[in-house]
Amino acid sequence: MSDLETAPADVFKTFVNKLGHICDNAKGGKKVTAFAILQLGTIQYYFTSNQRDEEDYRRTSSYITSILNTLDQMRDDETLSRNASDGRLPRLLRMIIRFNQSRIKGYICRMREELDFCINFVRGDRSNEGQAVLQSLEYLKPLLEFSGDACNTNTNEFVDGSQKVIQAISLIYEPFFKEFLRLRTQNNMDRNAPWVVVSHSIGRLLSYYYAVNILIAAHRTWPQLFVDFEVHWVPSTAPREPSIPRRLDAAKILGKMSSDEDTISKYRDYAVVLEQSGITLNAKITEAVRHNNFLPFVHAEVNLLDYILRLQKSLREQGNEIPTFFLNDRYIGCSKPTCRLCELYFDHHPSGVVVRQGHRNMYSEWRAPDVFAADCDTAARERKITLERMIPIIRDEAFLNLREKFATSRPNDSHDTPSNVPPLDVLVSQMNHVVISNTKERGAGWAAWDELSFEPSAESADSAPELTGSPTGDEDGDIDDDSGGAKL
Ligand SMILES: [Zn+2]
Repeated sequence: MSDLETAPADVFKTFVNKLGHICDNAKGGKKVTAFAILQLGTIQYYFTSNQRDEEDYRRTSSYITSILNTLDQMRDDETLSRNASDGRLPRLLRMIIRFNQSRIKGYICRMREELDFCINFVRGDRSNEGQAVLQSLEYLKPLLEFSGDACNTNTNEFVDGSQKVIQAISLIYEPFFKEFLRLRTQNNMDRNAPWVVVSHSIGRLLSYYYAVNILIAAHRTWPQLFVDFEVHWVPSTAPREPSIPRRLDAAKILGKMSSDEDTISKYRDYAVVLEQSGITLNAKITEAVRHNNFLPFVHAEVNLLDYILRLQKSLREQGNEIPTFFLNDRYIGCSKPTCRLCELYFDHHPSGVVVRQGHRNMYSEWRAPDVFAADCDTAARERKITLERMIPIIRDEAFLNLREKFATSRPNDSHDTPSNVPPLDVLVSQMNHVVISNTKERGAGWAAWDELSFEPSAESADSAPELTGSPTGDEDGDIDDDSGGAKL
């Protein structure tokens, strides 16, 4: 569903996601950005990214402040317009293009390279839809010419040209055009196929147009969000080398996943078959946890939740009022759909805060927030309970995946397990991160390997959390190729 088709009740969540989206200005996952909006007298925007340095945070904070101020300064007749391409609202789109030019250059240059193939292909399609698509692509083609040699244009030329392309795409993206692209790209796993490249680029460029419309819709609905606000950035966490055994293999990991010897034995047999089948499970595990390039960090959504809870706790202890979520909507938005481990973390955290709908992808470089020496027992206990609630689910998904891989390694066997579960080698590496510790020291998330257990504790079973449904907000198919770090 597009942003513009989003139900009014979801506009707020989509707005928060879009704040992250327009700040996520580089490929690779480092700039994935989470936002939350609190209020205590004034409106307080908090944001953080997976990996950004202080200078980058200051620049991003200034940019988002300018965006919010620009919305506030617009005349009523401008903000009442539903159409950002009518020429009256170029400022927002230009500001967003300028900040995101690295990404946008990539989309435009790639589309320019592949568009001729698509035009020649569709020329042979004599259907009404085919001819209409041809007309649309030919309308787009000259607008891409500004990008010149490898997009080496100066910034102002680039912003001008990109603005025209994005606005043109907003005009040609009719339902028949969208459906035509869908049919050309469905089931095509080749990310470099011309139609896949063109469709992806069009979708990503269009998402900036949608972003402007969502910002305007939010301003129209909640003008108080844009007056006397504060913007605060939260430092990214440092990537940290985990303390795990240097020599780790599937047999050792599986030995930690159950207390039942028969179960362990059965899955170890599966692992042996996989090893012999060419999957080279142990080599993948070794590679996944290899020192120097395996540096897990706290993902932006979890880092922001941790910061907000600390802030509220600190103010409460000082006898001060605490900021609460705007509209009492306990929501943390993000530029990308939530990864599986963050999704599980929020689902099982007692705060009741919800995040953007997940995509079930797993990333190897994930870790839980630190518990510091100054933290009270409650913080350590909450993290312990949350992680213990996650572990059985991760374990089951790992077993499911192992069975799936085992079945597919033996072609004559039937199997009915889903294919979209994360690969085992990723899951087992996640399990190694999900270490429970009562130690209240910085870095205490990494307890001794021997202390690790995947059996749920009585404590967690006694106090199951109230689970909240995932919000919508995955409004533009925003599953890019760099959703949250190293994807496996
Ligand atoms: Zn995540």
